[in-house]
Amino acid sequence: MPRSNSLTSRLRALPERARDWYVQEWLLLLFAVGMLLFIYFVAKHEAELERSEILRDSALVEQSISRRLDSDQLFLDRLAIDMGDERFSSAEFDRIASNRAIESGYITDILRVKPNLDVTRHAPALNSLETLRANRAPFVDQIRMSAITEKTSRSTYSQPFRNGTGRYFIEYAAPVITQTRYDGTINAVISFELLLLRAAPEWAHSKYRMIIRDSDGIGITSAEATQLETNAFQHTIPLSLPWRNLSLTLVGAKPTSLLPNITLSTAVIALTALMVWTLISLRKQQRMRQLAESERDRVYLQSIASLKTTNERFETVLDSLDVSVYVSELDSNSILFANARLRETFPGISVGQDAREFETGFVESPVTRYPTLRLVRDDGEPGEVLVDELEHRATNRFFLMRTRAVRWVDGRLARLTTLGDVTDRVFAERIRQTQQEKLTRTSRLMSIGEIASTLAHEINQPLAAIANYVNGCIRRLRGNGNPDPTVIAAMEKAEAQVSRAGAIISRVRDFVRTREPDRRPLDINALVTETAELVESDDEARALRVPFDLEANLPQVFADRIMIEQVLLNLLRNAREAMQHLKPHERVAIVRTRRIDGDMVAVEVLDRGTGIPAEAASQLFSPFFSTKADGMGMGLNICRSLIEYHEGRLTFEDNTGGGTIFRFTIPLNEG
Ligand code: ADP
Repeated sequence: MPRSNSLTSRLRALPERARDWYVQEWLLLLFAVGMLLFIYFVAKHEAELERSEILRDSALVEQSISRRLDSDQLFLDRLAIDMGDERFSSAEFDRIASNRAIESGYITDILRVKPNLDVTRHAPALNSLETLRANRAPFVDQIRMSAITEKTSRSTYSQPFRNGTGRYFIEYAAPVITQTRYDGTINAVISFELLLLRAAPEWAHSKYRMIIRDSDGIGITSAEATQLETNAFQHTIPLSLPWRNLSLTLVGAKPTSLLPNITLSTAVIALTALMVWTLISLRKQQRMRQLAESERDRVYLQSIASLKTTNERFETVLDSLDVSVYVSELDSNSILFANARLRETFPGISVGQDAREFETGFVESPVTRYPTLRLVRDDGEPGEVLVDELEHRATNRFFLMRTRAVRWVDGRLARLTTLGDVTDRVFAERIRQTQQEKLTRTSRLMSIGEIASTLAHEINQPLAAIANYVNGCIRRLRGNGNPDPTVIAAMEKAEAQVSRAGAIISRVRDFVRTREPDRRPLDINALVTETAELVESDDEARALRVPFDLEANLPQVFADRIMIEQVLLNLLRNAREAMQHLKPHERVAIVRTRRIDGDMVAVEVLDRGTGIPAEAASQLFSPFFSTKADGMGMGLNICRSLIEYHEGRLTFEDNTGGGTIFRFTIPLNEG
């Protein structure tokens, strides 16, 4: 027998709920069986009690009847003896017999029967002789009784018989002996029905139904008694009468003594029924609950499924966005959700990570910039949306960050942040801005040029006039003869200063002259050597030597010759001025040319001058920034404009071992 078939292991195999129910059913069964057994034993006990009681009662009833009949027999025998006495009068017979019959209640008639069967006396004379005849034993029986009494001189009974009304009777005959001669009998007709009614004790009537039956089992006391009794509580005993096999049956249909026990049984049955009912309704309830639970489970599963679909939809939408999206908890900053775009753009980011860690990767971290105060209103609800453009350090890309507080699915406050890549726009914007700046600078340059030309033109007129007047004066002084040589010398100095002023003005005008750029292929090395010749000088104030370090076989550049000359001149002049404190022969500025990446040529001017202090470096290219007493501060600014116009760059750096290197780049012709 495999163990799995045992009850306990089967119970263990059941789901818990079903197991409970299994146990309940077993308990119910046990209880019901117990109750039935209990009822059975109680009933059995009761039946035994009733049995012994009915036995006793039967005996009592039988005795009571027998005693009455015994006493009646005695009376009748006595009356028969008295009747044999000549002195006993007929009136005496009538009186005594009537009294006895009426008193007994069941002796219907007492008769004086002669040996020839004639009835000579009849008491109590309630019935007519006709009726009497109909109520008596059958004639054969009368003959038989007469014969027996005559022969034995003893009393006898007739057979029980039915008279005309259908009732059962019996007749008793006691022999009358008159002086040793048989002289007929004294007969008494006894009604069985009345006998039972009168002779049985009062209590027996209230307790039992009683039937007297003959030897064939046919009830002779009542019509209904002819039916066979099937009632459980009945007992039959023989009636101890000297004649036939009559029996007395007591039927305990409604015995009063059994009532409490019936109540007990009823209570037990009712209780059992109640318990069964309770268990059944419990089971019903349980089944309903199970149904409800399975329904709830189904709805739950359904809602889970639909939630899943919703969630998938939600994630599909968010993952297919071009914008990076993440949600972080407002308090802990822990990332609750990150869409696919975010994970692609910023590899390594994951749910559960600290959002601040990620956000500090931007040039200006929004964590410090966005106080929670603004994101959440006073009433605790989501507040402002904050927008900012930020540069991501690691990727060097720009993002438009929008961040706002939202209620997350579980009710927590969270921050929903989107990052749109705006790098292209930012770069386009920057280019536009640079171009705008360039334009501004160029237009400024143009206007400075215009001012300078106008100024030069306006000042040239008076300067020319001054020169003319001074010349005229000198001529007149010489023509008059004997002029004061000191006056002549002074006048000549004045003239020289005037022409110097004119030269300065024309130089400025040339420098800032507005003209259309004219770019052509150029040999940069040749240009460098020619320009350097213009600034090289040996005189003390303007001393400068310019050695070259030129890359051989450089391809031609594509540039405006005059503009590049101007830039180079300006750089060499600045170099000389930076070395003004050195001895004249120490003032050396090297010019170097090199081809560099991107099809460009770099031209560098290296000096051993003062160098550029850090605080000046940032302003060097600003217009009108100058550290010199007579400096205009426009040189570098204009130079940078000219180089940027050529799509090149003008930069500077410290020269190792002192001084500065200025470098500009210009594109090759084919580039
Ligand atoms: P300016 O020469 O009229 O002052 P610039 O624009 O040419 O105007 O130069 C601006 C300033 O830059 C100068 O006043 C000087 O202080 C600094 N500078 C330019 N070139 C050099 C250099 N080679 N060495 C040191 N300082 C320089």
